[in-house]
Amino acid sequence: MADIINVLPDSIANQIAAGEVVQRPASVVKELIENSVDAGATRIVLKVRDGGKEQIQVIDDGIGMSPMDARLCFERHATSKILAASDLEAIVTMGFRGEALASIAAVAEVALATRREDSEMGYQIVMAGSKITSEGVVATAKGTNFTVRNLFFNVPARRRFLKGTSVEMKHVVAEFQRVALANPGIAMQLLHNDEVLYDLRAQNRYHRIVQMFGKRIEEALIPVHVETEEVTIEGYICKPSKARKRGGEQFFFVNGRYMRHPYFHRAVVDSYDKQLPHDMVPIYFLFFTVRPESIDVNIHPTKTEIKFENERILWQIVNSALREALGQFGGLPQLNFHEDVLRDMPLCPPSAPVADFEMPASAPGPARIIIPAARFDSRSGGGDAPMVYPSREPSEEGGGPRLAFRAEELLPPTLPLGHGYFATTHANGLVIVDQQRAHARVLYEQMERNPPNPITSLQLLFPVSVELSPEEAIGVETFIIEAESIGVRCVYSEPSTLVLHALPAGVSVVDYEAFIRELLVEFGEEETSLKTRDARGHLAALAHASAYSRSLTLNAEEMGRLAANLFACREPSRDPDGYPTFQLWGIGQIQKMFQV
Ligand code: ADP
Ligand code: MG
Repeated sequence: MADIINVLPDSIANQIAAGEVVQRPASVVKELIENSVDAGATRIVLKVRDGGKEQIQVIDDGIGMSPMDARLCFERHATSKILAASDLEAIVTMGFRGEALASIAAVAEVALATRREDSEMGYQIVMAGSKITSEGVVATAKGTNFTVRNLFFNVPARRRFLKGTSVEMKHVVAEFQRVALANPGIAMQLLHNDEVLYDLRAQNRYHRIVQMFGKRIEEALIPVHVETEEVTIEGYICKPSKARKRGGEQFFFVNGRYMRHPYFHRAVVDSYDKQLPHDMVPIYFLFFTVRPESIDVNIHPTKTEIKFENERILWQIVNSALREALGQFGGLPQLNFHEDVLRDMPLCPPSAPVADFEMPASAPGPARIIIPAARFDSRSGGGDAPMVYPSREPSEEGGGPRLAFRAEELLPPTLPLGHGYFATTHANGLVIVDQQRAHARVLYEQMERNPPNPITSLQLLFPVSVELSPEEAIGVETFIIEAESIGVRCVYSEPSTLVLHALPAGVSVVDYEAFIRELLVEFGEEETSLKTRDARGHLAALAHASAYSRSLTLNAEEMGRLAANLFACREPSRDPDGYPTFQLWGIGQIQKMFQV
């Protein structure tokens, strides 16, 4: 019988292995700029075309390679970073496996020009699909210059799965940011289609963070420093007020490399305690230094997920170090129950005495507030703090004479709970309202009745400027066109300012900057970009962006009005995206809690 086993040719083996290392242009960026860092570069320039799909070029002034090394570096398991088997530790700790360049060369067209400081001439190699197509001596600057073109040109199925330019570019920027934060002493530049996105000089960590993320972060940075036997943690966290709705500015590094660590992330979030509404993510830049032997980077092929020896102990260290930092630098108002909460806790409606609002029980109007008259009698002081029930269905109330009021005219007692929630009462129990979602629901239905009209956009008296980070600025041109179509008129002014000039009639905004950032997020999401949204989606995005944020403190009148407007809605229980706007603790549930 004939033998049936074939050994795969190297080129195919490399392509298969490449699948592990190279998922998208950003993976190539990561490997190339990390190599430049390892080569001792003091300056790294990254030039990208079309989100990296067309071309990625990394130029460094590091040690460079000899002609022999230049050829060898594309071989599988070729690495200068592990000398002998005794260095296996280096594989484990830093993930040097000599695989990256072999993998990249297997699925792209690569050109390498490199020169060591002690050589007069450099060497150049051009390859496609793992094969050298030309090589020879070349005049080039000291250091290394890699150009990677047409990623996945020979794996059409994978090429097709690459996303649009702005999505791929966001990933590229994320990789660039990680290396730039970990190596503030290296000058780094990022250009996309010849436009400079970052031009970072060599600086210390603090200034790098501020140069990268802008002034808006500067006042909010809180330093962290803790040293224990297991770990040193340094870096910065941000005051809770800078937390954002979606992730993107959370950075952990270990021994100088970026890592993802969902478990430690929870330690960070937990340290903010109740300072953060549940769907807000704090911004942080935390650098861990540990003994190399105490981590394992090889659990993940792209090396961003790392296993630590003492994860539970480290969790505690992170958590308590951050609590301390937050407490010390005023992030956490010290236990404030007695002062702050009680101060703005109105125990009765701040409006005029209830009797002034007396109206016939059959008064028209969508929302009413029903006060069973019997309640007054059962209470000692008669008129003090009456129980007030907003209700859409007055007829549901059983028995007894009652007074009905228009919601607009009477505010039920509301109790601010902080963090964007407040409590109010209802005929059936206690209602806890999420102010942001509730407001989004109210605005959404208002806009449905009265659609914002792009033609009659209202010019803002004072245009509002918002500084965008390079990441936010990606795709801003499309955003401007799309936003215009719903009446939000913006102009982009170089290098990074978005200026809001007009809003559709009928849309009112409390915090313009938050509004713009929220819209950018809403429209920037791949699956919800304006192109794929219908008119309802537009309204929902507008409603979300202009709704009260969770960090906004509402006064009693605003809470009362919001509750009344919410319960007058067609669908009060859900926000436009379908999330609950309030929770009701029914009397039955309350009785159960008290084991009645
Ligand atoms: P690894 O980084 O795990 O060693 P790579 O495939 O990324 O594997 O790189 C292989 C080798 O090529 C490196 O060990 C290094 O010797 C050399 N090399 C890669 N990039 C550079 C660079 N920018 N400057 C100098 N040498 C480099
Ligand atoms: Mg490498």
